[in-house]
Amino acid sequence: MGNMISFNHRVTKDDDSLTMSNGLTDVLLDYLLLSGAKLAQTESEKRMMVFLGEKVQSCCGIGTVGFAITDMPWQPETFAADRSFLLHMTAHARDLTLQPEIHALLGYVPRKEHINYALDGFAALIARMTAADIQPEKPAEWLARATPDHPIYHGYPKCRRHGILLSSLGCKICIDQSGKYPVMPEDIEHMKHLWYGDAAPQGADTNESTQ
Ligand SMILES: [Zn+2]
Repeated sequence: MGNMISFNHRVTKDDDSLTMSNGLTDVLLDYLLLSGAKLAQTESEKRMMVFLGEKVQSCCGIGTVGFAITDMPWQPETFAADRSFLLHMTAHARDLTLQPEIHALLGYVPRKEHINYALDGFAALIARMTAADIQPEKPAEWLARATPDHPIYHGYPKCRRHGILLSSLGCKICIDQSGKYPVMPEDIEHMKHLWYGDAAPQGADTNESTQ
């Protein structure tokens, strides 16, 4: 069991796919999300971070959050800038792995050789991406699953505690730190107060009033 980030799902033996334990997958994502939250400026950069923020094993299932780099919401117009952003974001994530205040925020210290392996593998896959690899239908497919209360339609709010961009599921770090598995929709509803205060997007309050 574990998760794989491949380049384009066409995986061959000993290729450059990044294979990780379930635990290391969470560590990689936590650091990418914290790094990207500080660096993402443009709409497309924020979308990349929200895409990564949806890979929450506590919600989706342990060992089920693998994806391909070509699944990400790449667009021809912003391709070069987005790839540079992702490489810079991954490099900055490596700096964060050394910072005691980040260890305190996450509640764990990553094993250096493990997180570096994951960051190296992720950066190599991003570096391999070219404009010719863009699958034009991917952003539309991803957006088609976004409901009206999706954070991408509400100004890309961030978790008040962890500062990461909220995904359709919320804050991955809050969800993981709740210690619940699997996390149920009602757990998410309760956490929305933490993320949005009284300003939860339309749709969040609807469920709450029926509880
Ligand atoms: Zn949080």
